[in-house]
Amino acid sequence: MCLHQKRPCECGREEAYIFHRDSILPEEVLVHLYCPQCAVSAPWDERSMVKDGGWILEYDMEAARFYLGQRLGRKDYSPEEIFDQDYCSWYGLTPKDLESSTRLHEELEPLKRTDLKEYIRQIVRRRQEEVLILKGQGWRKAART
Ligand SMILES: [Zn+2]
Repeated sequence: MCLHQKRPCECGREEAYIFHRDSILPEEVLVHLYCPQCAVSAPWDERSMVKDGGWILEYDMEAARFYLGQRLGRKDYSPEEIFDQDYCSWYGLTPKDLESSTRLHEELEPLKRTDLKEYIRQIVRRRQEEVLILKGQGWRKAART
């Protein structure tokens, strides 16, 4: 099972949907989450942090390596690998991706009932457009798609 949770950032202005692949890492592994506004005053530490789209995720690396080591037999994960391999990352491509994909599905819902084929085409096309935009904005996970 893959868990996701909604998590407020440190300053409380923003929220992100966080995804835990295979539920290997518990949510406490994400010790701090900084939105682009509170990231400015976050003390940067490359040993425990990863940056994406102006946001910063800070992991409890000791705990993360313990759990990953137990399940996967490897203990030298870096913050980037934890993020890029989705062990504790955005749900989707950005902090708000889940919401925007829900909105898209709602928007196209009427079409789904009248023309399923066209609905699927639209979903795929709109998603591709969105991914291109996110790539341009430099989001890590969009860049890998
Ligand atoms: Zn914030």
